[in-house]
Amino acid sequence: MTADDARADRTCPMCEEQLFKRHCKYLCPQHGVVVDCSDPFTF
Ligand SMILES: [Zn+2]
Repeated sequence: MTADDARADRTCPMCEEQLFKRHCKYLCPQHGVVVDCSDPFTF
């Protein structure tokens, strides 16, 4: 964990774990990167 890690307001669409926001990505503790915030696709 670094200072860049923060709890995000999103949950994983697959397992509903709360995601962490790191840099510009949302990370699921089980699935890894779920969404890159530069991606036009959001859930
Ligand atoms: Zn997940």
